[in-house]
Amino acid sequence: MPSEADKSNTCQTALLGVCLSKQPATLLKEVEQLCGAPVHARLGTEYNVGGADVSEQGPFIVINPYVLKETKTRQEAAIVHELLHLKLRAKGFGGVKYEPTETRFYNIAGPFLEEMVGLIHAPIEHYIIFPEMRGMGFDPGIEVKHYCSSVLEGKEKEPIDDDQRAVFFFRALLETNDQKLISKLMSFYESKHWNGPMALGKKLAQIVKDSNPRAPDDVANVYASCMNTLLERRARLEFKGWFYFKRGRFEVKVARMWIVPLIQL
Ligand SMILES: [Zn+2]
Repeated sequence: MPSEADKSNTCQTALLGVCLSKQPATLLKEVEQLCGAPVHARLGTEYNVGGADVSEQGPFIVINPYVLKETKTRQEAAIVHELLHLKLRAKGFGGVKYEPTETRFYNIAGPFLEEMVGLIHAPIEHYIIFPEMRGMGFDPGIEVKHYCSSVLEGKEKEPIDDDQRAVFFFRALLETNDQKLISKLMSFYESKHWNGPMALGKKLAQIVKDSNPRAPDDVANVYASCMNTLLERRARLEFKGWFYFKRGRFEVKVARMWIVPLIQL
């Protein structure tokens, strides 16, 4: 039996010391070809869930340090997850940039709107990339499943308001296909009288499933659509096309989202 050290010596491709098996290694090569540069990987902070983007130095992924304490499969899954986000970036799926029509409104609502990029835009991308992860033998919903279970067991803080409750339910529906967990979550919501946010979460997930986004414009439009459903009478979001800019020799693309307040803050 080769020792762990011997095995790492024979490793062909590794990121952050994690040896990548065949399919993840092929994915890394594909992403590097699409980006035209090597992918850098670094550890984030414990508060950072991970990420993928392009800086002046080139494409990079960020992995939460706790991942390295997990099993080899979970470590590879986290790397593959971020590589697939990066692959979307390389294929023209951009991030989101709000273009507020009113500064005062944005000063107050900005942090909430920015948070929704992580809580709604990322899950829309997950809807596209998770089947690919499953095809490689990984369980992409494991993070959100653990998080839901922790909330149900009272180990993690409950979502604090109706927006957070709706979005939490939306993520659970979109990112896991664990019917048992969804049923438990439904009973939990009913016991809390969170029926409105639960219905809204279902509606948001259905918007994504019905539109089945496949292209960059689809993702931007479905994001605007989800946000308009969530914001309802508070503000209106409009996708106004793409904004391109340079980071070093790399071109970065973001969806311009006009945000028009419908209420006075
Ligand atoms: Zn993600």
